[in-house]
Amino acid sequence: MRNETGLTAADMESFWMPFTANRRFKQRPRLLSKAAGMYYESADGRRILDGVAGLWCCNAGHGHPRIVEAIGQSAAALDYAPTFQMGHPRAYELADRLAALAPGDLDHVFFTCSGSESVDTALKIALAYHRQRGEAGRTRLIGRERAYHGVGFGGISVGGIAANRKQFAALLPGCDHLRHTHDPVRNAFSRGLPAHGAELADDLERLVALHDASTIAAVIVEPVSGSTGVLPPPKGYLERLRAICDRHGILLIFDEVITAFGRLGGAFAAAVFGVVPDLITTAKGLTSGSVPMGAVLVRKGIYEAFMHGPEQSIELFHGYTYSAHPLAVAAGIATLDVYRDERLFERAAELALYFENAVHSLATAPHVVDIRNCGLMAGIELEPRPGQPTVRAMEVLQRCFEAGVLIRATGETLALSPPLIIAERDIDTLVGVIAEVLATTA
Ligand code: PLP
Repeated sequence: MRNETGLTAADMESFWMPFTANRRFKQRPRLLSKAAGMYYESADGRRILDGVAGLWCCNAGHGHPRIVEAIGQSAAALDYAPTFQMGHPRAYELADRLAALAPGDLDHVFFTCSGSESVDTALKIALAYHRQRGEAGRTRLIGRERAYHGVGFGGISVGGIAANRKQFAALLPGCDHLRHTHDPVRNAFSRGLPAHGAELADDLERLVALHDASTIAAVIVEPVSGSTGVLPPPKGYLERLRAICDRHGILLIFDEVITAFGRLGGAFAAAVFGVVPDLITTAKGLTSGSVPMGAVLVRKGIYEAFMHGPEQSIELFHGYTYSAHPLAVAAGIATLDVYRDERLFERAAELALYFENAVHSLATAPHVVDIRNCGLMAGIELEPRPGQPTVRAMEVLQRCFEAGVLIRATGETLALSPPLIIAERDIDTLVGVIAEVLATTA
């Protein structure tokens, strides 16, 4: 039987879709075939307002002409160039641009092709750094409950979402987890950073007491957890975590795959929150989602720790065939130009309060048990239907899509992270459609 997109379930059989209920989806697919600005067009020809920047990534909106042109020119001029023992000029330019945007002395850049690769790269650099300095015993990696750090073995080992871990055996040895910061009893319906929970950072002291600091290489956290349902950090939490890491010589990694490039109203959450980590992982907004690319930003002292020994020897045995791929580099430079010239980070900061007020207007809508927001990110948590976890949130997503709005559902939470080009009237549409759908959802 053909669905409204003209494809039969059999036509869709070969593609094993990621993080998707394949059998259910293929019976009732949601297919996107075009995109421009704030809108997708569905395969059946409807305009869909994008409330999630694709998947937290298209921060400059879709199909920006300057980004499209840069990719096209690069494809024609230099389709591919290796960056193992070779280079191409624009890769250095993009690294410089990122270093200039980064806070503190995070002025060296390792290119990857995704957020997951950025996370595994950062974890490997942390381990190798301590070894390089003669502290090879620092092998433990600390993540946090409910965290999402992509799907590499490193990322799921420090990650804290059970469903992403339990199918894959024992994972990396020597990982441990801080408690998560979600505290609906004290913090429900907080606007921006919740008031309670800075003391949860002290959980790192518990792990230090348990394992001894001399065995711990790094702690990785999302400054604002995204995929677990948008959890902004309690006020003072990140500062406290930074101080404890400093006290014990532990590297602090911020996973900014979602939060970098304007999502919180600045280039990086680190600068917005005034807490400088030792490494920052990025991807997504780096090219506004147009070409896969990630980058790890590293403090000067970490890079320099590797620059010893014979000059002809490779300092870090790590890299990807597509590290600094020319198309991604061209897209990255053009994207940074667009962010700067169109003042999109500033725009996100200016819109944040309007967005906050709009999403919090859903507080009285049926089924809503919590609303959380920070910058242009928001989570609207629903009460699950008894005995049917996540079904209500997925139904709301489906009905919003039918009504012309793309949102995301993560667990019981509806997540919003629109392109930074969103206008106030688009925010009204987005929230209005969600309100209507909630009002008529069982
Ligand atoms: N880290 C964080 C914080 C993320 O949100 C994501 C993806 O959503 C990743 C890592 C993984 O990125 P990717 O899907 O590009 O591998």
